[in-house]
Amino acid sequence: MPTNGPRSISSQTLNILCRIWRNKTIAPVLKTFMWKMLRNCLATGERAGSLSSKISRNCDYCGMTENDSHLFFHCNFSRAVWSSANPPLLTSTLPSEQEGVQEALSALITPSTQDNIMIMIITTLWFIWKARNELRFRQKEWSILQVHFAAQAHRRTYDQVAMQTGDGNEKTQKHLCSTQNQLNLAGIQDQGVVCFTDAAIKPGASPETPETAGIGILFKDISQNTTFNISAQIRNCTSVLMAETAGLSIASSIAAALHLNPVRFFTDNQTLADILLRSNSDESPDWRIVPYTQNFFNNRDRVLATVHKIDRKLNYRSSYFSQKSFLGF
Ligand SMILES: [Zn+2]
Repeated sequence: MPTNGPRSISSQTLNILCRIWRNKTIAPVLKTFMWKMLRNCLATGERAGSLSSKISRNCDYCGMTENDSHLFFHCNFSRAVWSSANPPLLTSTLPSEQEGVQEALSALITPSTQDNIMIMIITTLWFIWKARNELRFRQKEWSILQVHFAAQAHRRTYDQVAMQTGDGNEKTQKHLCSTQNQLNLAGIQDQGVVCFTDAAIKPGASPETPETAGIGILFKDISQNTTFNISAQIRNCTSVLMAETAGLSIASSIAAALHLNPVRFFTDNQTLADILLRSNSDESPDWRIVPYTQNFFNNRDRVLATVHKIDRKLNYRSSYFSQKSFLGF
């Protein structure tokens, strides 16, 4: 392996690559991506543009020369992603020259960096790259939040793969199996994405005494056989209906951000199912939930959404996550 020149690799970088390679919870596609990035093989604007005058060398976000360091750490877009990551990372002090990407990674991922932080960094890099490609080749602009959602969803999927021996996963499989039977009985084809949502809130929430609600969301891509869960909290909920509606609304935004379709949303709340089966927000029983129903209607066509009422006992997995977020994770 060369130790100088354009494809050179430092010993710190090599250590990072070895660590990534050995980690069984990192998807192969991410390992390959990191390899290409650290070996300076990604087709950035500057690299691809040096081979063809037809390819723009400039960043599609800001117009500056797009090299690895700019794309991943110094563009306003990636800076905003890192500063809003959990934990946030300040990238302004990282090296900005073309070959600085190895040093930047070595500064971010040290031997004492925990695995979960390393994986967060890698996954975020991958989705910055995906967002950049969406903008460059499909003129689709991702929001900062979309990058985080996509990275989080990806990590949760692989977390689940990693805990295959765990009790929780068996339950999930059983649950999804019985749900699938129900879907089959209903004549629904075995494809697309299903999404279960639920909310937990203190009894007695009202407009006078709003409460923080816990939201649980479970996505399953049937053809890929992958699942991921999301737990969230919503402040100032004034009713159970509002909490449940907020959960489904967030789920629809995540589905749209991840370009999932068609998505079948399941709720055990009959009132909510009835509201969302209507074509617009005009007939909502409570004006306070209209922002959430409207957001769902805005996403509905993008994700080819259908809404179904499900038996409460089949919704226990998203219920579990909503309880968990209600109690503060
Ligand atoms: Zn830029």
